[in-house]
Amino acid sequence: MVSLIPSPDTVMQMLKRTGAFREGHFVYPTGKHSPHYFQMPLAFRYYDTARVLAVALSRKFRVERDISSQLPKIAVISPSSGGIPVAFGVRDALSAEQIYWAEKEADGKRMFRQYVNQGEVNPCIIVDDIIRSGHAIEETAALVKELGAKVIGCGAIVRFTSAPDEFEGGPIKSLVEFDAHMYDDGEACGDCNKDAPIEHVRF
Ligand SMILES: [Zn+2]
Repeated sequence: MVSLIPSPDTVMQMLKRTGAFREGHFVYPTGKHSPHYFQMPLAFRYYDTARVLAVALSRKFRVERDISSQLPKIAVISPSSGGIPVAFGVRDALSAEQIYWAEKEADGKRMFRQYVNQGEVNPCIIVDDIIRSGHAIEETAALVKELGAKVIGCGAIVRFTSAPDEFEGGPIKSLVEFDAHMYDDGEACGDCNKDAPIEHVRF
């Protein structure tokens, strides 16, 4: 069988080429410093790249019997706007029946759009562009359960190794496992100690 899953190195090259993976001296709104930054929608702005990444992630789900046996009666769900192109690509590759995405309200609470009713959501897989902490997945899973649906898989293009690698007993799928370097402040940051110019990033 032809492998449709590019290696982690190949995926990283794609992310770098498209500007989605950036190296420098970044300061997050939390005040943390890091020598790298992911802005994943920059990779998904190119159709060919988006398709390769989404198809690759879909293959990781398709090999799970609990998922493949329930197709096409599956929902693909994104926790946030960044995951929407991933969710559409994975849905397309799996020919899954439904797609949903959550959004953050002004108060920071994650919600689905109105009028999604109890019992309407198929067993679902939650996909995002990047998993930094795993909180988005957890919050989305809680929403899904309130609607009476079951989470049968989770994944993202990139997962930070500091995030959980499983969710409720199932492995979290990813194309790249990235060991993110984060420093609590400038004192601990190697780039600050070299007086490297800072770029402030929004999230
Ligand atoms: Zn720094």
